[in-house]
Amino acid sequence: MSFPARRSALRALLPGAGVDALLVTDLVNVRYLTGFTGSNASLLVHAGGDGASRFCTDGRYRTQAAAEVPDLETVIDRSGAQALAALVATLRIERLGFESDAVTVDAHDVLAEAAGVPLHRAPGLVQRLRAVKDADEVEALRRACAVGDAALAGLLDAGGLAPGRTEREVALDLEDRMRAHGASGPAFETILAAGAHSAVPHHRPTGSELRAGDLVKIDFGALVDGYHSDMTRTLVLGRAAAWQRELYALVAEAQAAGRAALVPGTAVAHVDAAARGVVERAGRGEEFVHGLGHGVGLQIHEAPSLAAAGTGAVEAGMVVTVEPGVYLPGRGGVRIEDTLVVRDGGPELLTHTTRELLEV
Ligand code: ZN
Ligand code: ZN
Repeated sequence: MSFPARRSALRALLPGAGVDALLVTDLVNVRYLTGFTGSNASLLVHAGGDGASRFCTDGRYRTQAAAEVPDLETVIDRSGAQALAALVATLRIERLGFESDAVTVDAHDVLAEAAGVPLHRAPGLVQRLRAVKDADEVEALRRACAVGDAALAGLLDAGGLAPGRTEREVALDLEDRMRAHGASGPAFETILAAGAHSAVPHHRPTGSELRAGDLVKIDFGALVDGYHSDMTRTLVLGRAAAWQRELYALVAEAQAAGRAALVPGTAVAHVDAAARGVVERAGRGEEFVHGLGHGVGLQIHEAPSLAAAGTGAVEAGMVVTVEPGVYLPGRGGVRIEDTLVVRDGGPELLTHTTRELLEV
């Protein structure tokens, strides 16, 4: 199990944050550090090691905590993080850090009162670790992406993308297929956008019917073992018109440039610029209205952000999406998105559905 290794990596960050213990209250971060999948938990990570660290949940999860977190001393207490903060003296903690990017102002006051000492801001430490995936996580993401590929292939084989079906029907069909392939559910609300709707980046499927000649943009993912996959494909129902073909070729070129720029050490803003430059040189920069991509893992959107305003560089082991899009309001839009692992020798694709323009 990689959980002790993850906690040990977090401990290594504590001195730099100026604290000797961190109160982890973000539930996704708790899951990352312990493997606990329940809906209420907090964790005190002590610089002194796992022996001085404590996991806390409430009575409903006593059995589950024993099974999922057998390697940490567990406190069963409904007040959660408050009970952990109260251990400051017992565990000889001098500077207790808290996730100031996750805790509300009111919750902070409650925790500080329970601790009896001032708390210290320590935002983003676990997120920083989560950005670089370990082997177990890459495997989970690989499984999630494979489910997405299989579900889309099944939908196309069954003739599920056809004129007369509604966006909502097709989206549901795709989600059912992901479940049938082992997903616990969709990774997020499926975007299925036909015709002019494809020009809306985050269109919600409606009752409107698919029609011959439509661009159909499908952005979807599977949730497998807590990990999210994310892929977008844009197809044409029937023969593509010249403008659709041209738009597709432009986005495909931008996407390839973005993928090629995923070299460890490259600033995230440069990765974004590599793809955006292709679109800008074609005079369509204004129609590429979002960032290039994002990290993906226990959350559908997590660090790093591949965007012009993003900070830092891509590192080997990060799992990110590359998803340029060009949207012509009232006509249609194209987005092509893959999920990739950043590697030293070049990125590894986890999503394998063809990137050629499909006419179905
Ligand atoms: Zn997506
Ligand atoms: Zn995405």
